[in-house]
Amino acid sequence: MIRALACFAALSSPLAAQQVYDLLLKNGHVLDPANQRNAVMDVAIAGGKIVRVAPNLRAAHAKTVVDAGGYYVTPGLIDIHTHFDAEGAPLNVDPDHNALRSGVTTAVDAGSSGWNTFEAFKSKVMDHSVTRVLAFLNIVGAGMYGAQVENDPAQMDPEAAARMVEKYRSRIVGIKTAHYQPADWEAVDRAVKAGELSKTVVMVDFHPKPGRGYEELILKHMRPGDIQTHVYGRLLPQLDANKKVQPYMWEARKRGVLFDVGHGGGSFWFRIAAPAVAQGFLPDTISTDIHKDSVMLPRATMITTMSKFLNLGLSVEQVVERSTVNPARAIRRPELGTLSEGAAADIAVIELERGQFAFLDSGHGKLTGDKNLRCVLTVRNGKVVWDPDGLFAAEYTTTGPYSNFK
Ligand SMILES: [Zn+2]
Repeated sequence: MIRALACFAALSSPLAAQQVYDLLLKNGHVLDPANQRNAVMDVAIAGGKIVRVAPNLRAAHAKTVVDAGGYYVTPGLIDIHTHFDAEGAPLNVDPDHNALRSGVTTAVDAGSSGWNTFEAFKSKVMDHSVTRVLAFLNIVGAGMYGAQVENDPAQMDPEAAARMVEKYRSRIVGIKTAHYQPADWEAVDRAVKAGELSKTVVMVDFHPKPGRGYEELILKHMRPGDIQTHVYGRLLPQLDANKKVQPYMWEARKRGVLFDVGHGGGSFWFRIAAPAVAQGFLPDTISTDIHKDSVMLPRATMITTMSKFLNLGLSVEQVVERSTVNPARAIRRPELGTLSEGAAADIAVIELERGQFAFLDSGHGKLTGDKNLRCVLTVRNGKVVWDPDGLFAAEYTTTGPYSNFK
């Protein structure tokens, strides 16, 4: 850094020599659980990377300074259950309009495309998104293309899936199985087989059937590190008749199965989540299962889903941990979900509002609470991409001629 400064000073004016940061977020409350940071600090960005996180960095060294005082500054959020595919899936939504506004800089599409359709998804969606879009590859070759293919084991080819993972390892983080209705284990077991062959994790959306039980799924069929999504969904027997968390939930957690929220249109119910959370059964990862329906009445966006958990009793720290470092580890991308120096500058600036707020679940049950999280700035690869309050901007009367606009 000193060497770079010296070089720069020799070539440029004294003022420019000081400007070593492209962007400086000043005085925010940095919550970076991957690095155990939880204090008021500054975050400096240059060349699309985080270059310094420390108190009292000099504003004169930055081209642009954002006053983040009073806000939380966190790693860009990671939503590991989204539906951002464009191919043949009418419920899917656009990644940038739905992720970045919530502070989400990494979104994992959860099986919208399969080993037969992934390449179209990649070229149509992934390659054009500002959001970093990754994917769980559906074990069904056609992806989420309706019951006819999703219930057909002939569509589920572990070798073909593993080959596609191998070809796009930087984009595909695992395998997904979902929606399977026949009362056998074909879908789960073939997805796990593809996970074994490709050395990736499996995300499971599971509907129990007679002879194909949930307990058996999480204790026998899933591997440690595999992710059960829709943990507070109404189709699963998480609680007994007295609303007590079933012993097999704790046992599965102990053996390393991960439990993900996957809010969605039908899979997040306060009447299940509230007693589970009160008994200490918190989700490992918070995610949305965002699509055209879930984004509306239950507002299954990332920042609102995090707010719901805040009002169920989790701390801001616990909510941020489950939306940054935990999902990064779950998808085995520890370089994400962190404000480490040298990491990509993906950042969310979040306001904790106090007042009276209401939230709906998938059954349109209402939870009233006194806290709400709002994303006031999103930085992706060092660039401000969401700024509803103009924190990053100057008053228009001071901005000079049109030619100043970049
Ligand atoms: Zn889903």
